[in-house]
Amino acid sequence: MNYLGLEASHIRELILKKEITSTQVVEGFLDQIERHKDLNAIVNVNEKSLDRAKSIDSLTPEQAMEKKLLGVPIIVKDLICTEGLETTAASKMLDGFIPPYSATLISRLEKNGAIVLAKANLDEFAMGSSNETSFYGSTLNPWNKEYVPGGSSGGSAAALAAAMAPVSIGTDTGGSIRQPAHFCGVVGLKPTYGRISRYGVIAFASSFDQAGPMTTSVKDAALVCEVMSGYDPHDGTSSEREVPSWSESICSDVSKLTIGIPKEYMEFEVDEDTRKVFNSVVDLLKKGGANIVEVSLSLVKQAIPVYYLITSSEASSNLSRFDGVRYGYRADFKSQPAEDLIDFYGRTRGLGFGHEVKRRIMLGTFALSSGYYDDYFQKACRVRRLIQNEFLSAFGQCDAILSPVATSAAFKLKEKVDDPLAMFANDIFTTSANLAGIPALSVPAGFSSLGLPIGIQLQANHFNEQVLFDIGSYVEKELNLKKRADHVL
Ligand code: GLN
Repeated sequence: MNYLGLEASHIRELILKKEITSTQVVEGFLDQIERHKDLNAIVNVNEKSLDRAKSIDSLTPEQAMEKKLLGVPIIVKDLICTEGLETTAASKMLDGFIPPYSATLISRLEKNGAIVLAKANLDEFAMGSSNETSFYGSTLNPWNKEYVPGGSSGGSAAALAAAMAPVSIGTDTGGSIRQPAHFCGVVGLKPTYGRISRYGVIAFASSFDQAGPMTTSVKDAALVCEVMSGYDPHDGTSSEREVPSWSESICSDVSKLTIGIPKEYMEFEVDEDTRKVFNSVVDLLKKGGANIVEVSLSLVKQAIPVYYLITSSEASSNLSRFDGVRYGYRADFKSQPAEDLIDFYGRTRGLGFGHEVKRRIMLGTFALSSGYYDDYFQKACRVRRLIQNEFLSAFGQCDAILSPVATSAAFKLKEKVDDPLAMFANDIFTTSANLAGIPALSVPAGFSSLGLPIGIQLQANHFNEQVLFDIGSYVEKELNLKKRADHVL
């Protein structure tokens, strides 16, 4: 039986009914990883995944029944700590680092029967939009290998689009789950800030970072999100809110919903294909009885500078822990001993970090330095609050906000890599959800004239993931799009 194209919930059912074993499933997906090695989506395979599958196969029927992700293989962005399994953030700085513990979200997935199959490539320390800043080289888009898979969770998205697992996990600081999901034709959710514990997720910008599921269906996204969510005493920002059973309560009825379209979004430069797909989804929602209204988010134009100022500031502080003493890489001081502590740090960090990470550290250090702090960092924080207030007032008029995910479908490898501003501009639709801390979902919605996937983004008020799942599943059901490129399976 070919189960490579199946959803997580379907795989669980087959294992539960003993129609296949977890071991067979893991073997099949490991073969698929090997078959599509050239995509460079995977940086490390979990040698223990087969042992784990065997232990899943030996569970009693009662024990198996309790596990929401029984035997489901998952691929995890290599920014998330996995006990005993190398975790690198795709940086030379952490090459060879073996975490002594797993992130809370990993423990929760495993407790529910999921199996970590492999670690996925990403932009170095999750900084990027194309997966081209990785120390291990770019990941390729499975739909067309001349194109980027998006970033920073590009490896997670490409792995899913190439059917290397039914589920992958990404992280999203400014769009890194949603944009690669859109480029690779899969579903990607950035939950509300605080929904999923950040404990064990290597920090980029702590007040923005949020892990989330990438899947091939909205229902799977809901299921995986409910497993990972919930209060964790190890993360002071994790929420105590109750976690609903979204996967059971999804209803794809949009007839009682009001969906807002921010008039300012329509002023951004969006290419023809993206506009067409967006308009067709608006028509689809109208057909389903949704009430479409215009809302205003006048400050979203400021989202890019505000996002890059604050995230770089937080990153410059977070990444100061990589000093060559406690973690991973240390420059070679045997042949040329360090002159002093500054020389020790300087040589280690100079060689350990790549260009993009250094750019952010320098920008952030500048924005935080005395004399500039008030003009840059503090001002950006004030605008962040105003952006959040605008979203809250928009949600007084609508249940969800609809927009494109990015200004175009996937772009070509190397097309933007030397133009950081063009790369940053790509994030115009995604960064504001992280500035406001609200949940946002990317759902496949069509294809470009070149046959590359295009998604749409839905954003909702804090902790209202349910409405995203409801609208997302309506769109998914009505469109019934092809989920993977023909050559992949
Ligand atoms: N492209 C954005 C950046 O480079 C988003 C990154 C992310 O969400 N991790 O900062």
